[in-house]
Amino acid sequence: MQLAVAGEDRLEAARAVDDHWARDLSDAERAATEMVIDLDADEATCPACMTTFKTGIDRCPGCGLRLG
Ligand SMILES: [Zn+2]
Repeated sequence: MQLAVAGEDRLEAARAVDDHWARDLSDAERAATEMVIDLDADEATCPACMTTFKTGIDRCPGCGLRLG
């Protein structure tokens, strides 16, 4: 994730992101951010919708998340 803010706002922006992370995300959403998709494996699991699919496609067949 990238967030562009004015230099003087950087600490407040970082604090707001941390607060959102701690307060508003479910355990499943936090776990999804840690997932790694191995597109060289035969199958992968989408971190957005948890659909398991055969690799070699550009988008998740479950939710359309762009994979590459
Ligand atoms: Zn998906």
